[in-house]
Amino acid sequence: MTQTHYDYIIIGGGSSGCVMANRLTNGSNAQVLLLEAGGKDSHPYIHMPVGFSKLTAGPRTWGFNTVPQRHANNREIPYAQGKVLGGGSSINAEIFTRGHPADYDRWAREEGAEGWSFSEIQKYFIRSEGNTTLSGDWHGTEGPLGVSNLQNPQEMTRAFVRSCQELGLPYNPDFNGEVQEGCGFYQLTVKNARRCSAAVGYLRPAMSRQNLTVETGVMVTRILTKSGRAVGVEFSQAGQIKTVFADSEVLLTSGAIGSPKLLMLSGIGPADHLHGLGIDVVHDLPGVGENLHDHFGIDIVAELTGHYSLDKYNKPHWMAWAGLQYLMFKSGPVTSNVVEGGAFWHSDKSQSVPDLQFHFLAGAGAEEGVPSVPHGSSGITLNSYTLRPKARGTVRLRSANPNDTPLVDPNYLGHPDDLKTSAEGVKLSVEMFSQKSLQKYIRKIHFPDSTVKSQKDFEDYARQYGRTSYHPTCSCKMGVDDMAVVDPQLRVRGLDGIRICDSSVMPSLVGSNTNAPTIMIGEKASDLVRGNT
Ligand SMILES: Cc1cc2nc3c(=O)[nH]c(=O)nc-3n(C[C@H](O)[C@H](O)[C@H](O)COP(=O)(O)OP(=O)(O)OC[C@H]3O[C@@H](n4cnc5c(N)ncnc54)[C@H](O)[C@@H]3O)c2cc1C
Repeated sequence: MTQTHYDYIIIGGGSSGCVMANRLTNGSNAQVLLLEAGGKDSHPYIHMPVGFSKLTAGPRTWGFNTVPQRHANNREIPYAQGKVLGGGSSINAEIFTRGHPADYDRWAREEGAEGWSFSEIQKYFIRSEGNTTLSGDWHGTEGPLGVSNLQNPQEMTRAFVRSCQELGLPYNPDFNGEVQEGCGFYQLTVKNARRCSAAVGYLRPAMSRQNLTVETGVMVTRILTKSGRAVGVEFSQAGQIKTVFADSEVLLTSGAIGSPKLLMLSGIGPADHLHGLGIDVVHDLPGVGENLHDHFGIDIVAELTGHYSLDKYNKPHWMAWAGLQYLMFKSGPVTSNVVEGGAFWHSDKSQSVPDLQFHFLAGAGAEEGVPSVPHGSSGITLNSYTLRPKARGTVRLRSANPNDTPLVDPNYLGHPDDLKTSAEGVKLSVEMFSQKSLQKYIRKIHFPDSTVKSQKDFEDYARQYGRTSYHPTCSCKMGVDDMAVVDPQLRVRGLDGIRICDSSVMPSLVGSNTNAPTIMIGEKASDLVRGNT
């Protein structure tokens, strides 16, 4: 990079950063620089749908753990976040869900996010979506984010979906249509049997544009400010500290952990905390790093009577066969995202919208920190979480050193209602596994074992086995109250020349996975920056 001035500097090439890099350079003369701390998205695991199971730990993640979770047996829980071009969208489970319209209406009506009601943002979902199967009022077919049906759901996933129906859940062919509740197969951000991350869908088509510069392996260490305005960034690249300037705006898209971390390192955040670490306060903004909101997923795991799940492909000869099938025909188990099926349902009848989401995995031990079945056997996993937890947590700095990991405290189960709803999720999960369609394949449910019977047992189980569902959000929330970090135009309150445009600006978690909602934020943010609203 020889240039020292750009119009826009985008910090973080994840789900939202890739959207913005594409939209801001399309049909415009604006010079845009995208800086990403991770490397290029070249590893084959990223692009094979099944590769998700190899990506929740290792070099394409930041290696975070939570601080000890007070309400979850003081466990320090692994906290995977993407560190690679595409960010979370390059390592996620490829589940395509949008959330309930009521989530966005709550943002607009109750949480100060004027302009973000469902009827106002739906066009951005539609603009982003390139659905190969579904169309009509609820779907887009021409957008950069490729979305498709699972090519061939595993036998166990089909049995799971039947089991849910035996329990009384209706079959839902489209979780992103008019009705969210029910059970079914997830649609995936997969196109032509390959992952469609934001880097693939948005960034690659823009890479040849003269006005876009993309740098990987670049860790931004500070946002530079002058007279109340963000003017550029300082970053480290190959051991050297450099600076680059933004003539129009700095656009922060480092994710719900990375964005508050970088703001605080730059002296933008709660003054007391920054003083305590010896950081000069540039702008006292108490909401930075507050309100962290995440889904606390609790898994149950069963051993099967035979090799009916994807675990069969752990054996080298089956793995080789699956690889061959994929290479030659783009079919077979490698096209599975593992987390194939699921449900949205109610912990009790008083909830007007689903308050629980389930993820069925046609295998066991696929994710970091999740229990598995005895070695050599095959298993299945079912994960559930409370869709709108009441507890909020924090992101804080460990020190003033940018290389130190931040203190991530999601405060899981910090509200008693979250514990109750979580326990209901686990009970329902066990019931789903106990219906005839799945039961006939199951040798034993190992987690929870048969001693878990009472309400207290289920609550204890949730405390012991819950973990992140990878949906940190809200740590730089938008709104108009004192704890809001950005206004509804995503401008940092009290500072010029900088917006935050990623999952951290959600005022509250949406009731679903968070990739498509974050891409929607990137789409709307691009319009806000370009004045296209
Ligand atoms: C393992 C996993 C599984 C998931 N599964 C699903 C799923 O199936 N479906 C779904 O909808 N959602 C899923 N999610 C969530 C979804 O992917 C995220 O909500 C979404 O990617 C967040 O987008 P973002 O743009 O806010 O942040 P990110 O995509 O995390 O992007 C932030 C980027 O900024 C970079 N960065 C951070 N700090 C700096 C810095 N100082 N300098 C330079 N670069 C920096 C990071 O390396 C990263 O690439 C999953 C997430 C994970 C991690």
